[in-house]
Amino acid sequence: MDTLTNQQSLPEPEQLLRQQYYRDRLPEMRLLEKLLHKGGDRLRVQVLTEVFDGELALPVYALELGSTAKEAPVLILCGGVHGIERIGTQLLLAQLATLVSRLHWDEGLTHALTQMRLVMLPLVNPVGMARGLRSNGRGVDLMRNAPIDAIAPRPWLVAGHRLGRWLPWYRGRKGDPMEAEAAALCALVRQHTLHSPFTLALDCHSGFGMRDRVWFPYASGSGMMEHTPELHAMLRLFEKAHPHHTYLFEPQFHHYSTHGDLWDYLYSEHLGRSEHAFLPLTLEMGSWLWVKKNLRQLTSYTGLFNPMVPHRQRRTLRRHYLLLEFMINAVRSWQNWLPDEQARERHQRHAERRWLKGEPQE
Ligand SMILES: [Zn+2]
Repeated sequence: MDTLTNQQSLPEPEQLLRQQYYRDRLPEMRLLEKLLHKGGDRLRVQVLTEVFDGELALPVYALELGSTAKEAPVLILCGGVHGIERIGTQLLLAQLATLVSRLHWDEGLTHALTQMRLVMLPLVNPVGMARGLRSNGRGVDLMRNAPIDAIAPRPWLVAGHRLGRWLPWYRGRKGDPMEAEAAALCALVRQHTLHSPFTLALDCHSGFGMRDRVWFPYASGSGMMEHTPELHAMLRLFEKAHPHHTYLFEPQFHHYSTHGDLWDYLYSEHLGRSEHAFLPLTLEMGSWLWVKKNLRQLTSYTGLFNPMVPHRQRRTLRRHYLLLEFMINAVRSWQNWLPDEQARERHQRHAERRWLKGEPQE
């Protein structure tokens, strides 16, 4: 908790300025720091980097719970990559509040965490969120910022461009280092995937479609990812355990083909240095439904990406517990379901029928 202590030791005017800023523009950071305090020694907290809004430095926090063993399986949860999509961060904060409140009495959870590590990066882009931007404070779309190109980018502009930071989906200048927030996320994921026998990641976004979707690579090409059998095996576990769920599971290339996707980049890099399975998923919460139910949301940029009515926001925060709880259990029990060679072939066939040929799941 060094960092939080450091912040408390800031000169008083600076502390006041920061508190005012959090209150007015970034209540998510205020709640996050509260939860980090509340979690105490059970959480291992790090400031990955600091980003600036004018003179004010804002921390990008990462926290860990559970096993410190290098060989432990890992679940990574991210939110707030796109600043305007506040609901992703709020969802992870709700999850963190639940975990922190259970840690001192729930033996099941405590035991689960001895078998795995949970890594959270709830607010990747604090300046973007404070200013109500998709991009970071420097006008770069962090999810277009990795040094990786799409094979057939579409749609134009949305796929990422280098025209200038005044347009959304700007990738940054060719050859420049990655933005601080994107580089911090990549370094953290790399550190945890290197020795882990199984890593699952979920990056929480909003703003597409009427339904909640879970996307997987590739965003930059139209091939299936190498760990498709593992992915398919895990999603079937979920579907069988929760037959009434309403998620759509699909490869990202069904909708977009984008440059600079951080997860494509991390995944491709991982393949070159580890044999172990890594499944980077994106939760894309279906915000059009919130807009349809409350057309006034069309009048604000925030309203296109976030539920604005309190009961709908609460429902959204409740809605994904099942998925997140499933992910904790799937990661800690990975050895019980990861497919062997023979099962891999079967899962690969089913996955191709489902996602390349569009046949319904048997
Ligand atoms: Zn997003």
